[in-house]
Amino acid sequence: MIVLKFGGTSVGTADSIKKVCGIIKSAKEPYVVVSAVSGVTDKLIEAAECAKAGKDVRATLNEIRSKHTCIMYSLDLDKTLLDAELEALKGALHEISNLKELNLKARDTILSFGERMSSKLISEYLRASGLASKHYTGWDAGIVTDSEFTKANYLEASFENIQKRMSKLDHIPVITGFIAKNKNNEITTLGRGGSDTTAALIGAGVGASEIQIWSDVNGVMTSDPRICKEAKTLDVLSFQEAAELAYFGAKILHPQTIQPAMKKQIPVVVKNTFNPKHPGTRVVHKKGKRNAVTGIAVKKSITEYTIESGRMLNACGFLSRIFNVFNENKVSVDMVATSEVSVSLTVDEAPHNMKDVLAELSKIGNVTSKHNHSIICIVGDGITDNPKLKGEIINTIASNDIHIKMISQGASSINIGLVVDDKDAEKAVLALHKRFIENN
Ligand code: ASP
Ligand code: MG
Repeated sequence: MIVLKFGGTSVGTADSIKKVCGIIKSAKEPYVVVSAVSGVTDKLIEAAECAKAGKDVRATLNEIRSKHTCIMYSLDLDKTLLDAELEALKGALHEISNLKELNLKARDTILSFGERMSSKLISEYLRASGLASKHYTGWDAGIVTDSEFTKANYLEASFENIQKRMSKLDHIPVITGFIAKNKNNEITTLGRGGSDTTAALIGAGVGASEIQIWSDVNGVMTSDPRICKEAKTLDVLSFQEAAELAYFGAKILHPQTIQPAMKKQIPVVVKNTFNPKHPGTRVVHKKGKRNAVTGIAVKKSITEYTIESGRMLNACGFLSRIFNVFNENKVSVDMVATSEVSVSLTVDEAPHNMKDVLAELSKIGNVTSKHNHSIICIVGDGITDNPKLKGEIINTIASNDIHIKMISQGASSINIGLVVDDKDAEKAVLALHKRFIENN
């Protein structure tokens, strides 16, 4: 059994859907998970916002309708196939218009239509191509979540449900990515890009031997190719490395995907629908430790805050007070460094609760901020166990006249984080890539 997840661009046109069908045909016992047709999730958000503002939603609704109709037309499918979904969507938008209110629950219901339509369409096309197939929603397949609408977390019960409902099928299931239900039978979504999570959940639930994530790139790269022309596709990555790289910028794999697949040690392979012969990148539970650099990610536009309090630092509970402030305001911290009298940490440029955070922090100590910084994240299994390598990383940066503002060695042994000025970030990535990846 293999799970094949196709992203929005892979199901974005009639041509790409034909490619997808070919890939499915040659897979052994495939379980298919699909995203919405590319651009549709954004359009649905636009429609929901329009409805809330009391504006006419017909134009946006028509765009969504015609995106699907064009595809159905080119694939020679029955044009009325998605009428029920489009009617239901219209009704849901009407309700929002009437109430002039768009809560997160209603938003998730609107967003669910993207995947509900794409899964139905693709399953129908597989049938038209002579394959036995049925479409499933995430909840039909057994995924249950909590009630954190727009970024719901799956419940453990999902695995058993999936196993019961989806094992031993006599047809190819085409399952909606991204969407599920909570225990009250209300529609939830797993967060943007959440179809990868669906694929991992299905894979873990049915005990797949592999999960393939099909998109429009050859795989995970050693660095951002827009910055570094020499960046190349990695053949293999450990789950931990993939998670670090994804978190700090390589947005190909949703970090959360990693979890259900990692627990079951199921390899995840990133592949290109438009270049299916390319082997892609294999993300495995454990790869042989090389103690060398695997990839370099960069997260730009972050702010570094320093909280200084000579009086407090030795006092017990100082750090926890600081982190409580971030926690309570749901502002996430990326990197932390402490000294005798101060704590420095980095957050995204402008989280919306930052004002409240700063007001609270100033009760604890003197707060200063430095904007327009970048985190460079150097990733590789075992790199922090290699003292020589660490020295060379610092030397490479220093010999390029780049000032390191903050440095942290992850709690795990696989990443070293450096904070530099935004203006130096690309230069630092290029120098590190050249030294540790190209010349290695
Ligand atoms: N369609 C959803 C999104 O655009 C989920 C996904 O594509 O993974 O975020
Ligand atoms: Mg995606």
